[in-house]
Amino acid sequence: MLKTVEPALRALIESDGFAVDGFLCPGHVATVIGAEGFAFLPRDYGLPAVVGGFGTEDILLALYLLLRQLADGTPKLQNAYPRAVSAQGNVLAQQMMARCFEPCGDSWRGLGTIPASGLRLREELRDFDARQRFALSVSSEPAPTACRCGEVICGRLGPEGCPLFGKRCTPEDPVGPCMVSSEGACAAAYKYGVFE
Ligand code: SF4
Repeated sequence: MLKTVEPALRALIESDGFAVDGFLCPGHVATVIGAEGFAFLPRDYGLPAVVGGFGTEDILLALYLLLRQLADGTPKLQNAYPRAVSAQGNVLAQQMMARCFEPCGDSWRGLGTIPASGLRLREELRDFDARQRFALSVSSEPAPTACRCGEVICGRLGPEGCPLFGKRCTPEDPVGPCMVSSEGACAAAYKYGVFE
């Protein structure tokens, strides 16, 4: 199942106890949906949003701009990755996506099922859906564990607050999604010790 970011971010922001001051928006997503794809963050929620790249300087610039917005009290959308991201993104890719896929509810690890946050093949293309074609049954619900990624993602808990952090859960043997990828909060905390 493919996923879309806006419904997930809206669900996250509107969840109980949400405690995030601003968003460093993913440059690779923005290459497709455009920087404007994140305009709802300052417009609807008054939250700073900066599209960032993936190099060290890109991240530093995006973080600087985020902090600048917070210090000045001027939440807005800024694009700190203009060499790859335009305001409107890849319009042809967006058109092709819209032609082939339609929104559907989908499950997010740590957040549960979020309406219209996934994309499935349109009816006329379902023959290409392996689940349907081969009658596969694949559960997208995560297996229950003591992982507290949902709280980490919402900003309610630091990685060190998870009892599994650095013990049962490490980058070499991750339990939850926040430890799986290098940009995950738990993996970053484990590598750099920034939350100690
Ligand atoms: S340390 Fe591991 S188990 Fe705990 S919240 Fe992070 S990813 Fe989940």
